[in-house]
Amino acid sequence: MTYQKSITAFAEAQKHIPGGVNSPVRSFRSVGGNPLFIASAKGSKITDIDGNEFVDYVGSWGPMILGHTHPKVVAAIQETAALGASFGAPTLLETEAALQIKKMVPSVDSVRMVNSGTEATMSALRLARGYTGRDLVIKFEGCYHGHNDSFLIEAGSGALTFGVPNTPGVTKGTAHDTLTAKYNDLASVERLFEQNKDKIAAVILEPVTGNMGVIIPEKSFIEGLRKLCDENKTVLIFDEVMTGFRVSKGSAQEILGITPDLSTFGKIIGGGLPVGAYGGKQEIMDMLAPKGPVYQAGTLSGNPLAMAAGLTTLRLLDETPNFYEDLEKSSALLEEGLQNNLNELKFKGVINRVGSMFTLFFTEEDSVKSLADVNKCDTKLFAQYFKLSLDNGIYLAPSQYEAGFVSAAHSKEDIQKTVEASYMALKQLKG
Ligand SMILES: *Cc1c(COP(=O)(O)O)cnc(C)c1O
Repeated sequence: MTYQKSITAFAEAQKHIPGGVNSPVRSFRSVGGNPLFIASAKGSKITDIDGNEFVDYVGSWGPMILGHTHPKVVAAIQETAALGASFGAPTLLETEAALQIKKMVPSVDSVRMVNSGTEATMSALRLARGYTGRDLVIKFEGCYHGHNDSFLIEAGSGALTFGVPNTPGVTKGTAHDTLTAKYNDLASVERLFEQNKDKIAAVILEPVTGNMGVIIPEKSFIEGLRKLCDENKTVLIFDEVMTGFRVSKGSAQEILGITPDLSTFGKIIGGGLPVGAYGGKQEIMDMLAPKGPVYQAGTLSGNPLAMAAGLTTLRLLDETPNFYEDLEKSSALLEEGLQNNLNELKFKGVINRVGSMFTLFFTEEDSVKSLADVNKCDTKLFAQYFKLSLDNGIYLAPSQYEAGFVSAAHSKEDIQKTVEASYMALKQLKG
């Protein structure tokens, strides 16, 4: 395979765009390669500008659960575009989209549309603060909630006290208001509640993580969080930007059996267009302007093209018979194939999967349950695996700390090809 056109394109892009990309993970930096410039995509496949075709497990980092260029989604966008791209006034599509989300996720009484996952979590946090009259938020190490200042915080070396920013540009004041705890470690959250009585506005987490690779919450952990939030009158926010409509029709909260106070969405609800949303309990949502005092707005929020793409996608997920069952079957087939490869080649690794979200961790450990476990992974080995996979026609996320996504368009043949490519890559890595 030659990637010459992408190499030239990246060199040119770097002259005009910071780092050559509009979002850092696209740069392939953590696997030490040259990003591929994509020309087009269809179903489970993407094609780069050199004409190489790949089975795609990135799916635009989550949104493309139906596969690329689903004819109904394309038609919805085209038909809506012909009626006008944006009005800055209410449309019927917005109410229809809200109804569809409420139908699929019953914890949502009322929902506000925004333009990205980042905006959704930022706004949900402001709302939780406005509702409780408190300042502090608890997040978990390794969870990603977009690039808001409040969420770009890590715990300072081992101290589960006040966070320090992990990017320049975030003020000490902001960092001071963000506390970090450890995923799947309820005691780390209990301590923060004890130390900050009546000061914690919200606890936010990925109810199944994807942004440090796939990690599944333990039952006692997630139930404990719900209880702690109830006891302390703290708003529990499930950041379902990735898991929403991905892991099941009713999102992660459905499979976990836990009702959050607020949920944030993104990715799939836009069907590939820029959309985010946050919603939840009526009493909390009623605090939002124009009804209540908490301000949040957006010129392009509820944009007709984005609503049309998202609504069409959600309806297909809701109405296609056995949609999630079928997706589970092909995802399970992939997991089984990858696991067989590991067993056969006596290759150490851990596969975590929930529905169509999965991560193959290159680790000597027996399980991966927290950021500490994730940090034990061999990222150099992953980088080699990534490159070999690419050369074998498989497009994975260019980082160990990510989830892969199976779409409804992935056929048995695609899965078969992926398992074979993975076998060849692992065999080569064994040497
Ligand atoms: C992708 C993601 C975000 C950020 O969404 P953007 O649309 O990239 O701003 C927030 N939270 C989670 C869990 C995500 O996966």
